[in-house]
Amino acid sequence: MQNETLRPEQTPPGFAEFTPVVSPLAQAHAAGTLVDKYGRRITYIRLSITDRCDFRCTYCMSEDMSFLPRDEVMSLEECLRVASVFVGLGVTKLRITGGEPLVRKNAMWLIERLGALPGLDNLVLTTNGSQLDRFAAPLRAAGVKRINISLDTLDAERFRTITRIGDLGKVLRGIEAAGAAGFCRTKLNTVMMRGTNDDEFVDLVRFAIANELDISFIEEMPLGDIQGRSGTYISSEETRDLLSHHFELIPSTESSGGPARYWRIPGSESRIGFISPHSHNFCDTCNRVRITAKGELYPCLGQNDASQLLPVLRAGSDDGELRQAIVDSMGIKPYGHDFTAQMNSPQVVRFMSMTGG
Ligand code: SAM
Ligand code: SF4
Repeated sequence: MQNETLRPEQTPPGFAEFTPVVSPLAQAHAAGTLVDKYGRRITYIRLSITDRCDFRCTYCMSEDMSFLPRDEVMSLEECLRVASVFVGLGVTKLRITGGEPLVRKNAMWLIERLGALPGLDNLVLTTNGSQLDRFAAPLRAAGVKRINISLDTLDAERFRTITRIGDLGKVLRGIEAAGAAGFCRTKLNTVMMRGTNDDEFVDLVRFAIANELDISFIEEMPLGDIQGRSGTYISSEETRDLLSHHFELIPSTESSGGPARYWRIPGSESRIGFISPHSHNFCDTCNRVRITAKGELYPCLGQNDASQLLPVLRAGSDDGELRQAIVDSMGIKPYGHDFTAQMNSPQVVRFMSMTGG
């Protein structure tokens, strides 16, 4: 038969010119990187190191929140192992989050080791700021590059209502401590809520400018079973329109590697960002996955599919199996999420504090 004499790369007679297709997924895995089935390279993980928190923000948790039993939470050693394997697969950015990451006992043990991981160029942290007056200097010494601090209001009483138990004074001291420790361009995260803090957006921007901070406004997402959201949702567009009556907003092409889109105000270094999971879905450039404190790997914040890493970690297996489980999880990363304006029913049953913001 004629075919027997063909070299493998030759096209058999009668067939159109044929180029063997190696999928981007297979190519990238062979090269030791993570690429999902839509060709998006995963270089960023958000690692939740606890589901616990010293606040109970109304949009994030229910009032009678129950937390994971300790033996279901990854140990700090397990967190480090997961992070190391991801870094071996080409991840260069890691955000430590929670719950409130700085209430995890011995969190600094882990953070110091993450800061020393070769290949991890960008170690960052999201915090509610309540513990920063103690931790800002050690975090900086450990190699944390940048901090995001949640701040929804500048009014102490309102702060107490939103967080149920939080103390605004402590958070403001934490913001100051971050600056004193040498952190630059610390970013405030503000969840926009109609009737709760929408009368303060202008003041929050002024506060950011005065303190040389960036600020991002976040559209509230329907995560966890929390009632009454549809009345509080505000779009980024509405807030941008409001701010444009007070500040000259110049669109910027800058990116912090996250989903925020930025605007600048002439004469100020502060960037004004908008994170718009509803109105401007950012899925097509998604480069991240999330790991919960329980070792679940969620390829998408807005979907319920997850891979379970804890059984692999605890099976006494070597890193090869963990690596394979992570590579396999790329197959379940969906193209994207679709939060609709139906904010009353949770589209995702997990609370944000469980997935890690
Ligand atoms: N405790 C830390 C903090 O508050 O920054 C880190 C974890 S928290 C879950 C991370 C971010 O998620 C915070 O900025 C918080 O405001 C945001 N967040 C929580 N629930 C949210 C929701 N339902 N919609 C939008 N953002 C939410
Ligand atoms: Fe805690 Fe952060 Fe959730 Fe507020 S948003 S309850 S500070 S985890």
